[in-house]
Amino acid sequence: MDLKVFWKLIQQALERVAVIGAGIVGASIAWRLAQCGFSVTVYDAGAFAGEASAAGAGMLSPGGEANQLADWARDTVEARAMYPDFVAELQDESEHRIDFRACGAIDLALDSTDWDALQRRRTVQEALGIQVEGISRAEVRRLAPALSTAVTRGEFSALWFANDAVVNPRDVTRALSLLLPRAGVAIREHCPVAACTWQGNHFEVRSATAGPLSEADAVVMAAGAWSSTIDFTQESLTGMPGLPLPRKSVPIRGHLIQCEQPPGTLGPIVRHRHLYVFQRRSGSMVAGSNEELVGFDRTPNLEAVNQIHGHTEQLLPGLFPPLSDTHWLGFRPGIGGSGPEVRQFGRLPLWLAYGHYRNGILLAPHTAQRIALYIKRFAAGTRPPNEPPVTPEDM
Ligand SMILES: Cc1cc2nc3c(=O)[nH]c(=O)nc-3n(C[C@H](O)[C@H](O)[C@H](O)COP(=O)(O)OP(=O)(O)OC[C@H]3O[C@@H](n4cnc5c(N)ncnc54)[C@H](O)[C@@H]3O)c2cc1C
Repeated sequence: MDLKVFWKLIQQALERVAVIGAGIVGASIAWRLAQCGFSVTVYDAGAFAGEASAAGAGMLSPGGEANQLADWARDTVEARAMYPDFVAELQDESEHRIDFRACGAIDLALDSTDWDALQRRRTVQEALGIQVEGISRAEVRRLAPALSTAVTRGEFSALWFANDAVVNPRDVTRALSLLLPRAGVAIREHCPVAACTWQGNHFEVRSATAGPLSEADAVVMAAGAWSSTIDFTQESLTGMPGLPLPRKSVPIRGHLIQCEQPPGTLGPIVRHRHLYVFQRRSGSMVAGSNEELVGFDRTPNLEAVNQIHGHTEQLLPGLFPPLSDTHWLGFRPGIGGSGPEVRQFGRLPLWLAYGHYRNGILLAPHTAQRIALYIKRFAAGTRPPNEPPVTPEDM
């Protein structure tokens, strides 16, 4: 059969999509795909959204994160703009309330090194269209009266990011868990996928223990930090020399601490260097975080927890009990190079959606919309010229 005709048939036959990973990224993609009329099954090795998406703080914070003129940084700005509608739609369809606060953020500089770093970032952020401005000390004291007087009486400077916000990621994924079955998505928890193997005209989704799980016309790889542990490249590479390999996912462990305070104790997010502290609408105060390359080790690093507590105490004394009552860790899906893998791989109906690192909660609606669009266009045979290249011929 003529190769062009063959691929046309593959495209037109695309109905069943397997999404590997039911974190916020995979679940959001599954929802959008179901809305487009695809028959979707989501697989997760553990419980629905039980990994990074349960551990994430939930800052929607291009102001704290975007530090280079790169596509992923532009995507964070677009994703932040999408969030109010995303939350409203999730709430309406699931009837589950989502804790979301458009609270803004203060970035503190306590010395000239801090200030120089903020100024360098500001230049990039202004070019990205992020709302950032200098803020007076009096205004900082008014917005965050809980700040230590040792800080506010001293010589400090600060930037104000009016658009930064926070969401409780557990509310987002709870809403998704409620509405996915209603949208017709099958959820298979505790079902680790070992490989997705191309069989000539469909994929076989295989588990390590139970053999073949199902057939799928298309696969979306969204297993966060675990994405590179799943065998999905071999078959896809056949006959595609020169195709860039998917970048490797790497777990980057981080800890958070939490306590309860009356709502309204802390207005905006407060940041200083690697520390951030914020309060949810419910009253929960969250502070984090650190970064460690220790594989998937789940033993908490109490020294890191104490450092987060100590730094928080220095800025906002008395808010967190001496031994923070709650702390946890999670594995950010790190990735070599900058920005996540959000693209089709090769010519096969296989899409990559992982490596969101520190911004997966923020980027989830953006990635979901993009992947659903790519798959919809692929199925319709109408990939527009401005879509990133998907085959060696395109490159
Ligand atoms: C401490 C911390 C703070 C963070 N703070 C923020 C923040 O403020 N803002 C922000 O935007 N982001 C934040 N992040 C990052 C964010 O949490 C992640 O980028 C995001 O959750 C990634 O979502 P995901 O769906 O790709 O991955 P995950 O939520 O990890 O989901 C991947 C899923 O794949 C499943 N899986 C693994 N192996 C297999 C397999 N073989 N078969 C099937 N399923 C499998 C896992 O069980 C998991 O449920 C933070 C992360 C951490 C750890």
